This record gives sequence, structure tokens and C-alpha cells, in this order.
Amino acid sequence: MIQMTRQVEGNHPDVTAAGSPGGEPIRRVAPVAASDRPREACGVFGVRDPQQSASHLTYLGLFTLQHRGQESAGIAVSDGTKILVDKDMGLVASIFNDHRLQALPGNMAIGHTRYATTGASAWDGAQPVSRGAGGVYFALGHNGNLVNTEELAARYPAEVFGSDSDVVATMLAADLTTRSHGSLVDAVTAVLPQLQGAFSLVIMDETRLIGARDPHGFRPLFLGRLETGGWVLASETPALFVVGATVEREISPGEIVVIDDDGVHSHRFADVQKRRLCTFEFVYVSRPDGVLAGTSVDAARRRAGIALARQAPVEADLVVPIPESSISGALGYATESGIPYGLALIKSPYIGRSFIAPTQARRDTALRLKFGPIVENIAGRRLVVVEDSLIRASTFRKTVRMLRDAGATELHLRVLSPPYRWPCYYGMDTGDRTTLIAATKTIEQIRIDLDVDSLVYLDLDRLVEAINPQPAGLCTACMTGDYPVPVPTASRRP
Ligand code: SF4
Repeated sequence: MIQMTRQVEGNHPDVTAAGSPGGEPIRRVAPVAASDRPREACGVFGVRDPQQSASHLTYLGLFTLQHRGQESAGIAVSDGTKILVDKDMGLVASIFNDHRLQALPGNMAIGHTRYATTGASAWDGAQPVSRGAGGVYFALGHNGNLVNTEELAARYPAEVFGSDSDVVATMLAADLTTRSHGSLVDAVTAVLPQLQGAFSLVIMDETRLIGARDPHGFRPLFLGRLETGGWVLASETPALFVVGATVEREISPGEIVVIDDDGVHSHRFADVQKRRLCTFEFVYVSRPDGVLAGTSVDAARRRAGIALARQAPVEADLVVPIPESSISGALGYATESGIPYGLALIKSPYIGRSFIAPTQARRDTALRLKFGPIVENIAGRRLVVVEDSLIRASTFRKTVRMLRDAGATELHLRVLSPPYRWPCYYGMDTGDRTTLIAATKTIEQIRIDLDVDSLVYLDLDRLVEAINPQPAGLCTACMTGDYPVPVPTASRRP
């Protein structure tokens, strides 16, 4: 709603406020409400182009990254002398229109789409966050999740924080006034080594655009080049293509890039540690038309489907995906098995996360709004149903009922990833262990619970081989419990 929108000038007193007024205290940070599926953490975008409107380019980038966060979106833009921030709850296209983008003039901008993994799901958690300190105004967008937020927040006992990103902004502001004396690059270089966990960041002051990635590279971040001489940062490669940029390279884990009038400057704030790119970026999060660590996401999902067909063949009439992230995997399964590929469910492109269903009856309606069955493809058929993952599986249970009601005679569930038994602390909200169906049930119990005729998860080694990221290693913590960056012990208790 327009009343919630706040446009903040760089010299506005709110910019210097520590923490968001009314934000949820973050002394103890916990993932927000459990989700039925893994929810994407965030998408980040940044552009510096002397010849084009940065806010319009950022809108295109955020629109392309909408799948990474559908709760809120925001743009911070600089005209070289001041920073304006405009953010709101909702989808990118519902927040910004041409009139609103025209009110954000300038040739440098960062943008953010958010799904809350820490802090409140509210306007105060929307990004970019902004601050003014030491004569510098800056804005910041964060994809990922820190695991030492409580410890960092405790350094500022008088402050109230809306998210872990808010804590990072406050640390930068404090460093600007005490140690870095107005150099944002120095402040970023000093603060980032203190952060533990996952972070891909876009940051800017009035004249410089900065990108940075944690030493494990949990979340992706790319650098792109525009023909006009401009530069782009984005969570995924399709967001580079949509603004006409070519992929220059990935930001390296532990690297800071600073983009100014002289081009791109690279600094290191940490040695590259063992790379741990999120496996679920390939399985579920990233767009299939993107490339991660030199690997096509679509190709990786197809190979996973092929591997699943080899691991778990079954006699059936049709291979069907649960749209949309399972489509590539289902095509792979169908190709390898020789069973025809088809569609059983059509997903509405218009149902977003903002659809609120307070009662059971309304939730059932929500599923019917989300999926429409193609009865002719289902009735009397034995279906191989390919799904990317099972987290809580409550929606999938209803999906099975929908397929049974439409006349499916057999349902064979094939999952393109191993059982998801451990919560993610690195930027995807999956709820705590008690909500994860594979943490509390055996596979046979899950099969019975879901009312399917057979159930097979893809083995981890087959999945890793299918992804085959070059040169990145993968995080597999949610499937193995082997966390590459230690997480709070109390948080791991089931
Ligand atoms: S724990 Fe799972 S979801 Fe989280 S970063 Fe690791 S692989 Fe990705």
C-alpha cells in the first residue's frame, strides 16, 4: 500500500537512525514460520551505468529475481550526490510502476527481493536497508543468513534490529564513524570478516557500487558487463541477460568488488574456504535458464531426473512434474525411462505468497487455485510424479488427493533430492527439525502418510554427480547434518 512506502533521502534524519523504528528485536534470531516448501531467501541486484536509468534496469533485474523472494522488494538509487530508497511489501510489479521509477533518478542502484529468514515478515524487514554515518550514506541488500547474528547484535545493546542485514548495516555505520573515517570500502573490508554464515551483498554509497560474497560462497553472485560500459551485479545470470549484460564472472567467495568511474576493483576480505554453494540452488531455488558455477541449472536437473530413473525405475503410463521446478527433472526421468512425459497439473502463475488462507476450507481452495488437474491425462493412468523435494509435505499430501480424485490408478513419487532432515541456517527458511517430514518419519512411513504406491528419493552421491559444479563444492547440510559453518547448538535440537 502506498501509505507504507517510505522514500528516504540520503540526508534524511531517518537514515542515521540505528535500527528500524518498530522493528522486531533480534536479540535471539530464529527462522520465521515454518514453510511447506523451502522458501527462497532473497534476490539481490545492482547496476552502475553512466548512460541508463538505474532504477528502471533494477526493476527488470528484480522482476527476473522475483522467485527468490515475494514478500517485499525495494530499490535504492543514487544520482551521485544523494541516495533515495523506495521499498514496500508485495511483488515487484505491484510495487513499482513507471511513475514511481521516474521518481528514483540516477545512474547507480541496488535492489532486493525478500523472503524473511530472520526478523519479522513486515515492512521494517524490507530491503535495501540504509544508514548515514561518518559523512557517508549507504544502502545494502543481503541474500543469505548469518549464524552469529545474536552475538553481533549483542554489541549494540541499545539498538533494535529488524533482521541480520540490519545488524550488518549498523556494524558498517559504527565502523565508518570510529575506524574507517568515512571510507565505505574500508568499513566493508573490516566488517565482513566478522560475519559468519551466508551472505551475498550489494552495497552502495553515492558513487560506488560494491558486491561481496561469503568465504564459502553459499549463495550465488554474478558480475555482468553492459555494452554501454556499465556493470551489473545479480544473484542469477537471467537477471544479467534481461538488462542486456553479458556474464563477466562470478564474484569469488571471500571477494569484494568495488565498481567506480575507473571500472571494477577486486579486494579480498578472506581466503577462499572450501566452497559450499547451496545444493538447493540447483534443485529448487534458481531459475532453470541460469548457469551456476559453470553448470546449466536446467541440465543439472535433467541429469538428476536421468539418475533417478536409473536408480528407481517403475512401470507407469506417464511421467508428470509437480510444476514448475520439477519440470526439467521429470523430462530427464521420462527420457531415460522411455515413459512418455506429460502434464497432470497446471500451476496458476498468478497465485503468490501473498494469498492468505486462514481456515482449512480456504487452504483447500488455495490449492485448487494453485493447481488445476488435467483429468484426461490422469484418469485411469499410472503416474510417475516427480517432485524436487519434500520438506513438510502438507501441500503434497493434498496434491496426491487431487490426483486420486481425478482418477489416477497408481502414483509413484520420485524425489529429485535426498530426504531433507536438517534445517537450513544459510538462507532458506525450512522450519525447525520437528516440521521436516523426513526428520520424524521413515521413508516407508512417509509413503503411507502421503498415500502413494511407491516413494524413492534420489541418492546424494547421484545428485552431486548430476550437478557436477565446476569448480564449486556443494553444501549438503540439510541432507547430512554436516554444517560447514557451525550453527548454534540450541538451534539444532529437534
Ligand atoms: S543447508 Fe541445504 S538449503 Fe541450506 S545452504 Fe546448505 S544445501 Fe542449501
